[in-house]
This record gives sequence, structure tokens and C-alpha cells, in this order.
Amino acid sequence: MSGGGGPVVGRLSVVGVGPAGPEWITPEVAARLEAATDLVGYGPYLERIAGPHHRVHASDNREELARAMHALDMAAEGRDVVVVSGGDPGVFAMAAAIFEALEGAQAQRWAGVEVDVTPGVSAMQAAAARLGAPLGNDFCVISLSDNLKPWSLIQRRVRLAAEADFAMAFYNPISRARPWQLGEALGIVREAQGPDTLVMLATAVGRGEREDVQISTLGEVDPTMANMSTLVIVGAASTRVLERPSGRRHVYTPRYVESAESR
Ligand code: SAH
Repeated sequence: MSGGGGPVVGRLSVVGVGPAGPEWITPEVAARLEAATDLVGYGPYLERIAGPHHRVHASDNREELARAMHALDMAAEGRDVVVVSGGDPGVFAMAAAIFEALEGAQAQRWAGVEVDVTPGVSAMQAAAARLGAPLGNDFCVISLSDNLKPWSLIQRRVRLAAEADFAMAFYNPISRARPWQLGEALGIVREAQGPDTLVMLATAVGRGEREDVQISTLGEVDPTMANMSTLVIVGAASTRVLERPSGRRHVYTPRYVESAESR
């Protein structure tokens, strides 16, 4: 979708490598990685995917804007750069950081860089699939990290989403610097939706033995069981547990909403 403007001098793709191993990398992303000369991203992701022909530019997980600018500079030199995000690159990840840089004061020097985004499997999709279909009806997605937005806004979004009876997926639920936010967010939902509301902690989904998926309720959940690799799903009023004859439990949200449930 290029058109207008000057000549293209380099290329930058932002790709998502999914939340775990290579089986959740799409063929389109794999082809894009294969063609690249340079990979940019968080070190542990790059280790999983770099080949011998790649120049690897690993960086810390927090310096997204600096990483975006560095990637654009290499593309402007004519290199074929792929910026790697976990999950989907558009969900709390590098794609938005690239566009922030392209709107910044230094954007002119990247005028000839063609930018595109290639989707990946996001953690909420992997976690939901493990559970069954908890996001089978309307849901909303909130990052609980207050690094880039005020906590008061997160509180308001969680409260209004709970009042509107959305199922919810919480990314970045907890970290060493932010040990209390998840408990507070779940408390807000509990106030609106009640203690029997289902809540699921899906940790390290797809990462072998580290994977752990818990089904609980807002009345019983222990938020300290979550860590930085946990995706939290809070059910809507209609979200339920289906126990199969084998004993296996699935969580799902039906596609319909009973009129008694819609307030
Ligand atoms: N772009 C990523 C999200 C980056 S934010 C995506 O689309 O998935 C990082 C957060 O993603 C983590 O704090 C956690 O909430 C979630 N996450 C990433 N990988 C995960 C996994 N394998 N299992 C559970 N949650 C995961």
C-alpha cells in the first residue's frame, strides 16, 4: 500500500512471534523473518528465532521508543529490518512505538522507509483457547501497567467495563514494581459483578511445563499467583464452566445474552 512520496530506500516490518514457541508463529511471519537482514527486539525473543544470516540487535524490554528509532535508522540505510514483538505486534507492543517515532520530530530522516505490520497470535487468544471460549462474546482488553498511563484511568476503564458486563483480558497484570494493581483491579470488578464472577489466571501459556491455567472466582482468587507471564481473563455474568464427562473443565461465554443478564 505504498504510493505518493519519494523513493523507497529500506523496509521495516513489525511482526508478532506469538506468545510461546515456533508452532504459534504464522508462515507469513516466518517468511518475513527469513528474508530479513536485521532483527530488532527483546533479547529472549530474538534468541528463539534468529538464524545465522541475521544481525541481531537485542535490547531491554522497556526502551521501546529508542528501539523503534534504531530500527528505522537501519532501514533508512537500506537494510531489511524486522522488529519482533511477542504475541501480536499491535497489542501493547512495538507496532504503535514505530508509528509514534514516525510522528516524532525526527521523522523526516525515515521518509523513504516502507513500514508494514504482520499479525501474530496474541496471548489472550492462546489463553482463551486453552480455557475453551471465555472471550466468546463481547470483551475488552486492558493493560494494567501504569508506566505510560495514569492508574486513575485504568481504574475507570475497569470499573466501566465491569458495569457494562464485558468479559475482560488483563495484560501486564503484575510486576515487581507493581505488586498491588491486579488485586485492586479485581476488587473493582468484584464490586460491580459480585464474588461468583469467574476469573482465570493463564501463565506461560504454550511454554511447556511452565504453563499453568487456573480457574477461580473473584471471591476466592489469590492475585499473588499471577506473575509477569500471566494473562488474566475475567468472565462476564454469563461466563460459565462446562464440565465434560471426562472431568475436564472448559470455560466459555455463550454467544447470546439472556435478557435477565443485561442490565
Ligand atoms: N504483544 C503481546 C503482549 C505484550 S504485553 C501479545 O499480543 O500477547 C506482555 C504481557 O502479555 C504479559 O505481561 C502477559 O500478560 C501477556 N503474555 C505474553 N505471553 C504470554 C503467555 N505465553 N502466557 C500468558 N500471558 C502472556
